[in-house]
Amino acid sequence: MTMAQTSMSTFELLESEVRSYCRGWPVVFDHARGSQLWSEDGRRYLDFFAGAGSLNYGHNNPILKRALLSYLERDGLTHGLDMATTAKREFLESFQELVLGPRQLPYRVMFPGPTGTNAVEAALKLARKVKGRESVVSFTNAFHGMSLGSLAVTGNAFKRAGAGIPLVHSTPMPFDDYLDGRVPDFLWFERLLDDPGSGLNHPAAVIVETVQGEGGINVARPEWLRALAELCTRHDMLLIVDDIQMGCGRTGAFFSFEEAGITPDIVTLSKSISGYGLPMALTLFRPELDLWEPGEHNGTFRGNNPAFITATAALHTYWADTELESRTARLSEQVEQRLLSLCAEHGGTSCRGRGLVWGIEFEDPARAAAICARAFERGLLLETSGPEGQVVKLLPPLTVRDSELDEGLDILDRAVLATP
Ligand code: PLP
Repeated sequence: MTMAQTSMSTFELLESEVRSYCRGWPVVFDHARGSQLWSEDGRRYLDFFAGAGSLNYGHNNPILKRALLSYLERDGLTHGLDMATTAKREFLESFQELVLGPRQLPYRVMFPGPTGTNAVEAALKLARKVKGRESVVSFTNAFHGMSLGSLAVTGNAFKRAGAGIPLVHSTPMPFDDYLDGRVPDFLWFERLLDDPGSGLNHPAAVIVETVQGEGGINVARPEWLRALAELCTRHDMLLIVDDIQMGCGRTGAFFSFEEAGITPDIVTLSKSISGYGLPMALTLFRPELDLWEPGEHNGTFRGNNPAFITATAALHTYWADTELESRTARLSEQVEQRLLSLCAEHGGTSCRGRGLVWGIEFEDPARAAAICARAFERGLLLETSGPEGQVVKLLPPLTVRDSELDEGLDILDRAVLATP
């Protein structure tokens, strides 16, 4: 038995088979700072997964940590009911002042529960309630979460099968470039909407990711997103942008849809909104859609006060100016150059991304998995994505140091070379 296996035995004995990430990274982690984690045996790892995108500002960001510690020290409220608290008020005011106001986004803010899938469920419920229709259109290779409503608009067959019941009231349409540009965008979708004989129930809403993170780093073109927004207006469907993974600066701007110049009717945010890995999610919507009755969507953990504290500190630290956004754009170009040559020289079928989310696709999913395993052996955390896990995905913290980014890309290079 290796040391790693010994240290993993508690998890193997006591935890459910459903555990996942710890299988790819079979060590026990102990502490972390910035873009680095240390296992209990003292080995250092670079983190190019960033808590699945929940750590855009790095592990234990010192500014956020200070704010959290002083809040805990003074016995600030830590439970999660949606009572009015000073922590929530400061978050709402900061979000308005630094994010919504400057972008002229008119959204009301809803706290739907702690996780991304809670935000998606609330978005779907609200869209159905507002429009009085049950059907929602989603896209091929979409991922929106693991609860039943979110799974119904998720593409992955393995994840869908876990529901154990039929997943209904949703219809998939081709995402951007799904048909390799052979068919004009939205030809099929609009034909079905126009044709009373098509069998498509008039959808209440369309839900979309601007970059499909779990689905294989599929990047929608801004013009495709604009055409989708126009289609939604023409056919009286609400546009929901799921910005859970791509929001909070992952693609550069705070919201990933800013580049396309669209204003979705409903937006979901989670992952990095607390900035500290603390559970927090938001569903944002135009004020005229706010038809909720008080308590119609409820829950014990809808107001995670410690998360509001770190979220507020993150907004003031990173979104009061455009420094982070410009830096992300600069790093994005560097990553793109490195990955393009890696792909060309070592047989990746394509390399794609935006901001600091990138993917390299390999023909053989086993090769992508082996590359991630090799990278781990050399001290780099990477994950695969895509329906068959054929894409090696890079998701470093936005605060990654230049030297760490280079180090991680060097490790990736060597891992690809060692895995022909
Ligand atoms: N939506 C998107 C786009 C996601 O990437 C994810 C998670 O990866 C979710 C929803 C679900 O979020 P959570 O895992 O917090 O429920």
